[in-house]
Amino acid sequence: MTNASPIALNIASLRGQIAIIARQHSRDADSICLLAVSKTRSAGEVAEAVAAGCHHIGENYLQEALAKQAELRTWTETPEIHWHFIGPIQSNKTRDIAENFAWVHSVDRMKIARRLSEQRPDKLPPLNICLQVNISGETRKSGFRPEEVVDAAADISALPQLRLRGLMAIPAAEDDPARQRRSFAKLRALRDTLQKTCPALTLDTLSMGMSGDMAAAIAEGSTCLRIGTAIFGPRRR
Ligand SMILES: *Cc1c(COP(=O)(O)O)cnc(C)c1O
Repeated sequence: MTNASPIALNIASLRGQIAIIARQHSRDADSICLLAVSKTRSAGEVAEAVAAGCHHIGENYLQEALAKQAELRTWTETPEIHWHFIGPIQSNKTRDIAENFAWVHSVDRMKIARRLSEQRPDKLPPLNICLQVNISGETRKSGFRPEEVVDAAADISALPQLRLRGLMAIPAAEDDPARQRRSFAKLRALRDTLQKTCPALTLDTLSMGMSGDMAAAIAEGSTCLRIGTAIFGPRRR
């Protein structure tokens, strides 16, 4: 490991922690995707994470993401990357998102879902999406209200170029692990209700947990941890 980069060491350490926490909760660590969130990081840093085995990369800002994708495409050595869009979506940005990502976690209104389906190129597989849920009921946070989710999912399941995979949330920041778990438990219960109501859907994804609340999210069933700081270090802006 003497030549390993700090990013590779962080990823190795995170995988160890995830394995331990998963075992404590009788879960299979392989069912948990480590999504490296690379907002504000360079294409070179993304390439380091990919080389360390993180093939799922999350981006928040479209222009920044497109620039990194273009740069990485010119590097012939870079292995396949699955790009996830996880940031706020303006409706004039949906075409570029539909064309350049495999996943969108932050679908927060029907208009965005309809546009993403219409604009997803036919030659690509359906776009995997999660509905973002405002799980802590914050007035200024985007996302469907929990009581809107069942109707939204039914409407979205009729859109041909989208594949609804589950739910995503960014709960209100909270230091107390017990409180962190309560928010994640709510999202999990909502997913379970939705799955019962819509048995034809395969809702295998709970996108929840970041650097500061990863353990609580794993305890409550997260299948996708969105991790920035713990992989790349403190953000520079
Ligand atoms: C930045 C960001 C993350 C990662 O946060 P860290 O605390 O740096 O791990 C996860 N999810 C979303 C939606 C983000 O914007």
